[in-house]
Amino acid sequence: MAAYDDNNVFAKILRGEIPNETVYEDEHVLSFKDINPQAPTHVLVIPKGRYVSSDDFFNEASDAEIAAFFRAVGKIARQLGIVESGYRILANCGRDANQEVPHFHLHIFAGRHLGPMLANTGGA
Ligand code: AMP
Repeated sequence: MAAYDDNNVFAKILRGEIPNETVYEDEHVLSFKDINPQAPTHVLVIPKGRYVSSDDFFNEASDAEIAAFFRAVGKIARQLGIVESGYRILANCGRDANQEVPHFHLHIFAGRHLGPMLANTGGA
């Protein structure tokens, strides 16, 4: 696995070097609006720790960081008012998933019917 790149865009957001539209922040977690939204609600949730991907986070983060992360996702969904209508969470990991930013992040999509789970461009 590649080493963490401190120049990735989310590292710059965490250092305050580029702006973001924050929707939630605590000791371990930052959540902000995606700059190129794919749904009426599209936010990203990132740990403040230096984790390249979901694989890195799930294997290397502390129990406290992992618990804080998923608790935060639940709080954010409630805060956004999307629990009743529904939402989708998604994490791209690595090449086949087209992960663009090498800092672990989870997408939250909501605000319209989100269609099938995957685009029908390949199949099993
Ligand atoms: P992924 O393909 O899962 O790595 O998704 C990366 C996401 O980061 C994309 O949905 C981008 O639109 C989003 N993104 C990239 N730069 C920024 C930024 N400066 N602020 C907010 N979202 C960003």
